[in-house]
Amino acid sequence: MQSFKTWFEPIKPVRLDNDILTIQVPNQFFYEWLEEHYLGLLKKTIKSELGDKGRLEYQILLDQQASESQRGGSWINEDVEMINANQIQNPFVIPGIKKMRVDPQLNSWYTFDTFVEGDCNRLARSAGIAVADRPGATAFNPLVIFGDVGLGKTHLAHAIGNAIVQNGSNKTVLYVSIEKFSNQIIQAIKNNSINDLINFYQLVDVLIVDDIQFLANRTKTQEIFFHIFNQLHQSQKQIVLTSDRPPKDLDGLEERLISRFKWGLNADLQIPDLETRIAILHKKAEKERTSIPEKVLEYICYHVNSNVRELEGVLISLVAQASLNNKKITVELAKEVIQNFVQRQHKEINVANIQNIVAEHFGLPVARISSKTRKREVVMARQVAMYLSKNLTDEPLKAIGEEFGGRDHSTVIYAIKAVQDLLDTDQEFRSSMQSLEKKIKMTLAY
Ligand code: ADP
Ligand code: MG
Repeated sequence: MQSFKTWFEPIKPVRLDNDILTIQVPNQFFYEWLEEHYLGLLKKTIKSELGDKGRLEYQILLDQQASESQRGGSWINEDVEMINANQIQNPFVIPGIKKMRVDPQLNSWYTFDTFVEGDCNRLARSAGIAVADRPGATAFNPLVIFGDVGLGKTHLAHAIGNAIVQNGSNKTVLYVSIEKFSNQIIQAIKNNSINDLINFYQLVDVLIVDDIQFLANRTKTQEIFFHIFNQLHQSQKQIVLTSDRPPKDLDGLEERLISRFKWGLNADLQIPDLETRIAILHKKAEKERTSIPEKVLEYICYHVNSNVRELEGVLISLVAQASLNNKKITVELAKEVIQNFVQRQHKEINVANIQNIVAEHFGLPVARISSKTRKREVVMARQVAMYLSKNLTDEPLKAIGEEFGGRDHSTVIYAIKAVQDLLDTDQEFRSSMQSLEKKIKMTLAY
């Protein structure tokens, strides 16, 4: 019944002429679908109604659909190669018709080349590349990329689309945000053209939908989305989704949708570590065609560690400040910009924050620093943290000892001496301590 509604109701009879029945269908896809799925039925019916000589011809109504959709929010390119309304001669052979071209709505700057790889994004990025190589043919369907705001979900989503368009496979790619998708649905309901919309989406080989968390509580949008998702997935079309949280935590979404989102791969994006932030900022500086002193780049990356969008924002306003006021790009200027830009609670320089930075430096969970363990690398980190706490804060030895799992002040004295000895004798240790100290002074309010 649903398929009758979808596939037969929209058909308009045009004429019956010399045993040739001409019908009008809304688009190319429609025609192909009928031919593929209802060929037998059509043949049989034509034969029984019009006899052996009976034939069926199609008229494809494209111009109207394209112009309508442009009004509704442009999802078809203006220079679409219209399949003109010529009758297609033999309905039972699919002639080599040009494929309808859909503007993929991609931002060409967001590519894999401009997306810096790091631990924070490795899985999502490589899954994205795999999907771009073989859309619809990997286990990653749907590929759901999730993570906090400003961590690169949209960038990665476009990168996948761009890669597919560029590899010349001729696949129809479409990027759409939930906002836009939802608006299309509202329009389509108004215009009574939901079927057209659904049919249109079935043309797509790779559907990229950004910010699916906005599906929450939009019942109609969810329903249509569900429908489209199923159709595409069934025909091995690739689906890429992004979300600001893992699918299981999406509130206000039907369970059946959430369970489908878990079919493929859910890959997250994390906040990039310092090295990755620096690499990203280099890329952005390149793009802005400005050379920025390394020191300044590093300073920014030390201080802006919430997300990449903010990092980028600081860079852009730094460049703007410098050129507007004819100033040189210096650490001082960067400091000013950051203070205006990021309302950061300046982290206090205290024992706990020093422990955090030291733990990160040694690649240890911070709790290990204060634990009982005597493992060499932990003891080393602990002693370094004690030494720096003594040097950089005003805390008395006793208080410092307490903050390291209730240790005695004599332990702290011993640690300071041990670190001092190493500093005196070990060149490598000395330079590693210097960079650690610099990091603490740059990160904490000193
Ligand atoms: P989201 O969609 O997750 O909110 P975006 O994709 O809009 O985030 O990313 C915000 C900005 O950060 C974009 O300009 C993007 O290019 C940039 N960005 C994020 N991650 C990276 C990365 N790994 N390499 C380069 N640029 C990145
Ligand atoms: Mg986004």
